[in-house]
Amino acid sequence: MKYVGAHVSASGGVFNAPINATAIGAKAFALFTKNQRQWAAKELDTKTIDKWFEELEKSQIQPKHILPHDSYLINLGHPEEDKRQKSLESFIHELQRCETLKLDRLNFHPGSHLRKISEEQCLDRIALSMNQAIDATNDVKLIIENTAGQGSNLGYKFEHLAYIIDKIEDKSRVGVCIDTCHMFTAGYDIRTREAYDKTWAEFDNIVGRKYLMGMHLNDSKPELGSKVDRHDSLGKGKIGWDAFEFIMNDDRMDDIPMVLETIDEEIWAEEIANLYKLVK
Ligand SMILES: [Zn+2]
Ligand SMILES: [Zn+2]
Repeated sequence: MKYVGAHVSASGGVFNAPINATAIGAKAFALFTKNQRQWAAKELDTKTIDKWFEELEKSQIQPKHILPHDSYLINLGHPEEDKRQKSLESFIHELQRCETLKLDRLNFHPGSHLRKISEEQCLDRIALSMNQAIDATNDVKLIIENTAGQGSNLGYKFEHLAYIIDKIEDKSRVGVCIDTCHMFTAGYDIRTREAYDKTWAEFDNIVGRKYLMGMHLNDSKPELGSKVDRHDSLGKGKIGWDAFEFIMNDDRMDDIPMVLETIDEEIWAEEIANLYKLVK
């Protein structure tokens, strides 16, 4: 069974996210539990928390099909120690917000070396930050997102994800989220049956399919291997509908949140409905 939705707005309060998800026929959703462009956030108050559980219940969407995304400011692999610490603190705070909302996973971009340290040194710092965040919290899973490899962002190779996972002490607390646009612009083709199978066999071998705990469904404006992160609406970019048909019929993606981050939210309801029509 597939659980498809979109990264919906939580503006006005987190409880608006399940309301917005229901309005577009989503069975899953992503949200920011705080402003993604600011470090500080007001604590969640009791009224907001109560309303969250009330709306979540009405939406009938289960926590395991919700994929909160952390702030864009966080860089767990920051080359400067004081800045890594600031990111770590903020990341722990985000995990605690997830705990409060009884969410079981938090999606984040691994980090950037900013051309000041090597890729390996940066991956080591990311793993260190993740181990420290795991120690400081109870049970939320840390879901590493693959990236397009734009700028100095790591996570564009399956080997990066595997390297980090290998260094995590408590592997029950780690997972990955694969973004189809990032995968494609990082150089992994999924447009034909043959290319799709080859890419995902590589994923299974290098990362391991048990770690797949979320998907971002996006078409791509840039070409294969361009290392540029620009999403497009499904079927309107360089990936095309076939890849999404393969995904909707692939049991690797059963029972995990699959969320659109496509550029035109006016057609999210239509995109979700079209994805479900692809199930054979
Ligand atoms: Zn994404
Ligand atoms: Zn992206």
